[in-house]
Amino acid sequence: MSSAADAVTDTLRELHSRFAELRDGELADYIPQLALADPDAFGLALISMDGHRYSAGAADVPFTLQSVSKPFVYALALSLLGLDEVCRWVGAEPSGEAYNAISLERGTGRPANAMVNAGAIVTTALIPGTADATGFDRILECLSRFAGRRLDVDEAVYASEVATGDRNRALAYLIRSTGLLPVDPVAAVETYFRQCAVQVTALDLAAMAATLANGGVNPLTGGVVIDEPVAAQVLAVMATCGMYEVSGDWLLRVGLPAKSGVSGGLIAAGPARFGLATYSPLLGPTGTSVRGRRALGALSERLGLHLMHNPALAGSTVTLVTTADDLPSAPTEEQERALRERVAVVAAQGALDFTAAERVLHALDEPRPEETESVVLDLRQVTGVDTVARTMLRSGLARLAEGGRRTAVVDPAGHLAVGPGGDPAAPRRFESRDEAVERAARDLGTL
Ligand code: GLN
Repeated sequence: MSSAADAVTDTLRELHSRFAELRDGELADYIPQLALADPDAFGLALISMDGHRYSAGAADVPFTLQSVSKPFVYALALSLLGLDEVCRWVGAEPSGEAYNAISLERGTGRPANAMVNAGAIVTTALIPGTADATGFDRILECLSRFAGRRLDVDEAVYASEVATGDRNRALAYLIRSTGLLPVDPVAAVETYFRQCAVQVTALDLAAMAATLANGGVNPLTGGVVIDEPVAAQVLAVMATCGMYEVSGDWLLRVGLPAKSGVSGGLIAAGPARFGLATYSPLLGPTGTSVRGRRALGALSERLGLHLMHNPALAGSTVTLVTTADDLPSAPTEEQERALRERVAVVAAQGALDFTAAERVLHALDEPRPEETESVVLDLRQVTGVDTVARTMLRSGLARLAEGGRRTAVVDPAGHLAVGPGGDPAAPRRFESRDEAVERAARDLGTL
């Protein structure tokens, strides 16, 4: 019996013991080496955006990536070539078919997406070698940076797939015949088999998923593995295509970008929240881990991770309107009332994005617009302002100023990057709320 840990580990352990009893499914045997896996092995892992690691069960047992490699090699291709170029070779439509189907677009022969074998083989073929590194060296290096440690190839699994991989070779030749494979089919497939044979643990997979969830920055090492836009592109294709012919049902019920592999690995990413991974080699009919699917489904529900649910939690990035309460007291009651009517103070808190900026601007404009002559935006409790929010707040404040309002920001951290003086439409910047309000009151002649 394991000792009491933290709440997250407890949840993982509970799911582990619940689903360990499930014995449905079969080991993959079309790659003979995979049939040697321990059918009872079952591990879960979760890594937060702060790099906190949690696990239960066999989270340290090594297995091969197989198709879980696909989104990461796709990320590398997107980083090197850009979305438009990659899309010339590989589509981004769910195929609705099995991973090893001949999912080629009618007319062009372009593979449906990079998550099915046809598209993954082309994606791998798109990674160019350099003077001192082969295409595969670059793939291994990239996978290692996603995992946060040096990964290696399981040569036995690689050899086993080389010996039996005729279907993938046939796919590669078929694609080559349409002109959409930039390299020799045999070479393309061998590099693809190698990437599939890279050895990881469930904890490695959780780090890889967490890196995608964290906008391309590995939360364990702090290293920038890919740019944020690429992470978003990869997650989008995982969400629509990552679970092959059950991708729609998975997005409906579990609501997370995910990717499965026939060795029993499964990852899911909760953007800006967690990287999740499971390992259990017993597979269902679509080549996905039976326990993994059930456990990640339950985990998403338990932790409220479904992407379409409650996308912005009120309270995390919210803004508050405070008018009267924080104003300095004026010498007479009448002056104080005038001050309350004529100066509006809006305090924002947390990380400001588009949604939060909309609320802030609405709040600034809302209180008795006819009477309010001066608005003070207090950003002291703000932890960050993204580019969109910064542009919106600056232009919103300028618009208020053009409408005749006096505007001020309390922004000691310089989130709005408002310079001193110069632009008459720019708000005045203060270090403290008292200073800003006192100044507003004095300008209005109420103090
Ligand atoms: N290497 C395996 C194959 O190409 C990967 C398939 C998978 O994991 N779904 O058949």
